[in-house]
Amino acid sequence: MKKHSLTLYIFIGIFLGVFAGWLFGESILPFAEPMAQLFLRLLRMAIMPLIITSILSGVLSVGTGKNLGTLGIRTAIYYIFTSLVAILTGQFLVNVFQPGKGADIGLTGDVSAISAANQSPMELIFRIIPENPFQSMANGDVLPVIFFFILFGFFITKLEDPLRSRFTDIVQASFEAMMKLTHVIIWLAPIGVMGINAKIVATTGFGAFYSLGKYFIVVLMGLFIHTLIVLPLVLKFVGKVKPFKHYRNMLPAYLTAFSTSSSMVALPLTMEYASEASGVSKKISNFFLPIGATINMDGTALYECVATIFIAQAYGVDLSVTQQFTVALTALLASIGAAGIPMAGLVMMSIILHAVGLPLEGVGIIMAVDRILDMFRTTTNVISDSSGVVVVAHLEGESLEPVR
Ligand code: ASP
Repeated sequence: MKKHSLTLYIFIGIFLGVFAGWLFGESILPFAEPMAQLFLRLLRMAIMPLIITSILSGVLSVGTGKNLGTLGIRTAIYYIFTSLVAILTGQFLVNVFQPGKGADIGLTGDVSAISAANQSPMELIFRIIPENPFQSMANGDVLPVIFFFILFGFFITKLEDPLRSRFTDIVQASFEAMMKLTHVIIWLAPIGVMGINAKIVATTGFGAFYSLGKYFIVVLMGLFIHTLIVLPLVLKFVGKVKPFKHYRNMLPAYLTAFSTSSSMVALPLTMEYASEASGVSKKISNFFLPIGATINMDGTALYECVATIFIAQAYGVDLSVTQQFTVALTALLASIGAAGIPMAGLVMMSIILHAVGLPLEGVGIIMAVDRILDMFRTTTNVISDSSGVVVVAHLEGESLEPVR
């Protein structure tokens, strides 16, 4: 079977799932749950070994410290630039449309779990350094694991042969084996997304969309501007590729991100399609994509900014210029610190609210529509990751010949 047909099957899976969830309601859950779990558990099983082998093989093939340095700087510039543009777009829209003025601020959720994340932006940065890399691996804490393996890989490049080449061979072999495994799991995507979407439709209450409609639309508008205008411009003029052809090539990864609300769960697909369909070398994608899935979150950054200003408007608080600046800056940090898992962005909201002195209960206002917004912002995050890898590959002089 061709890969194009996989995209079609995923679309059919989403459609059937939504339809079944709508038609049968909660009685679909006994069928939907196992379908979703089979796919999600297999993907999650692959994530940590895939990240470790991919980062190591990325660092080992990039080679010298100088090359790693340029790749690192280009990657960082792309991440920060696109996230900042996303934040400014959101900030502009929320200030113009003022969705929070007169909004119904009845609290709709329990925010007690969220206050656990009440930490300072500085702590977010320190969390990158693992006190125990093995514990981070076991906890699925990706950022510290990446930090450790970049360092570990770098010092492997400092070894003499044959030690260095032996280690490199083992890493490459493990990575290739993980990709082959991923390849098989990906074929379960249509069944997985069918189960996940049936479950979402069967269990989500859509009533809150009326009271929060304006806020919801402002976030969506921002995400669409970012994915349909800003990123295509970057792809066209900096990456020198046809933006929508690239999007089409990457569709299975985007649809998985949309269905699962997790950049991390979509990562195996993003990696597969970035190299197979968009022709980015493994050298670049192995380095860029696992890091991107954890720290490059344009959709989340935009959402954090809009949501905070929306909450301020709903409470009737006028934010000063300095406070608006603080919102933008902490939104950037929060998007970097948010894990690539469902609702991580909502948890991070408490940090920004704290930073600008708004009540934490504000999170309760936006909770009701978060599940659906998460689907859109996660897709935006993954679109930015895949666009970034193409842009950086082009800047590193790659010719981007698709494998198929
Ligand atoms: N779910 C998002 C992601 O995985 C993070 C967020 O909640 O904003 O990319």
